[in-house]
Amino acid sequence: MISENLKIVEANIIKACERAGRKREEVTLIAVSKTKPKEAVEEVYSCGIRDFGENKVQEISDKSAALPMDIRWHLIGHLQRNKVKYIINNVSLIHSVDSLRLAEQISLEAEKAGCEADILIQVNVSEEDTKFGISAQETEDIIRKISVLKKVHIKGLMTIAPYTENSEENRIFFRKLKQLSVDIAGKNIDNVSMNIISMGMTGDYETAIEEGATLIRVGTGIFGERIYG
Ligand SMILES: *Cc1c(COP(=O)(O)O)cnc(C)c1O
Repeated sequence: MISENLKIVEANIIKACERAGRKREEVTLIAVSKTKPKEAVEEVYSCGIRDFGENKVQEISDKSAALPMDIRWHLIGHLQRNKVKYIINNVSLIHSVDSLRLAEQISLEAEKAGCEADILIQVNVSEEDTKFGISAQETEDIIRKISVLKKVHIKGLMTIAPYTENSEENRIFFRKLKQLSVDIAGKNIDNVSMNIISMGMTGDYETAIEEGATLIRVGTGIFGERIYG
């Protein structure tokens, strides 16, 4: 049951915030609705959630057209440059920017559409070679290059930690992302803020909160298992 699942997740968030000495308002839950039907999104929406995450451009386009306007859609999956134009008006935050060329395309399409785009830089802190994202060492350099683009605003960092049964194994990666965020914030780069740290999924969001996550991305823990057809 979705509403029961949400209650459990909410209680876990509160407990993790307490353990970390953080305020509940510092953490925003993104319900990851990829592959799930519109009705399931509506159920979560009716429980008060307004932030939803999708990993496909097509799914955000379809769902945003059919669902309430006050939903904030988060693109959390890999974004191809030729798809930016389809998403630029429908998305509140793009979490998965991992190249200068992609950021340039986003800036260009935002300019054409007469809007501005908020983005996160996806960092591969675990250095898993199957994952998208830039290395921690390259992050500052690419952020400096993206920061001069007119219509794109860097709001923070995002990472996808490895899948694990034991969330403690990911603590080191969350800590690394937080540290990187603090280091970059200290450089005071124009047009760059490090207020957002997007990390933690169903298996490890409590650990991520303890390590400073401000956005957590929870799918299975809210909607149940995904079935890929
Ligand atoms: C699917 C996905 C999630 C949610 O995963 P769950 O384990 O179902 O919570 C979070 N972040 C990204 C980038 C995803 O692709």
